[in-house]
Amino acid sequence: MRQPIEDGRVTISRAAGSLTFPAEFMLVAAMNPCPCGYFGDLKRECRCGPVQVQRYRQRISGPLLDRIDLHIEVPAVEYRDVASERAEESSTAIRGRVMRGRERQQERFRNDPKVTCNARMATRHLKQHCKLEQDSQDLIRVAMNELNLSARAYDRILKVSRTVADLDDKIDISPEHVSEAIQYRTFDRTLWV
Ligand SMILES: [Zn+2]
Repeated sequence: MRQPIEDGRVTISRAAGSLTFPAEFMLVAAMNPCPCGYFGDLKRECRCGPVQVQRYRQRISGPLLDRIDLHIEVPAVEYRDVASERAEESSTAIRGRVMRGRERQQERFRNDPKVTCNARMATRHLKQHCKLEQDSQDLIRVAMNELNLSARAYDRILKVSRTVADLDDKIDISPEHVSEAIQYRTFDRTLWV
């Protein structure tokens, strides 16, 4: 799983030789926080012991988690939210924002046919397209230390910050964009310690 996530290619080796196939995809996965599913729930009690919870979570390895860009906790939906008549942003509006963000990326990488979107940037692109002000750099430094993040997670934060800025229709990455990107990384560190 790691090679295709990282390189967008998969290599199959057999006695007769090895073949490489294209394998660019978007991975979306969901899991429960513990075997019973109620860990952290405010209304129902989790019946799992700490060792049981830890063993369950260790089924997903750290290196795999590191390669997933956005980690989001999805709490149970309350009745008042389901029944709410509050106007939410429409899918059409959200789609429009995503399309504009994609266009920005196509424009950015027009001379680089191998890079299709921010997630596929190499280190040299990060230097060019993810320049940070001092405030933003400080934010990342603190997060790296406090959350004990890997170098790979650092690169991912930069790329996600770029995307958050693109969706916000901004040329420069600001500290708000960086904090949002960091938020998407905190979940694995708080649950997987
Ligand atoms: Zn449980």
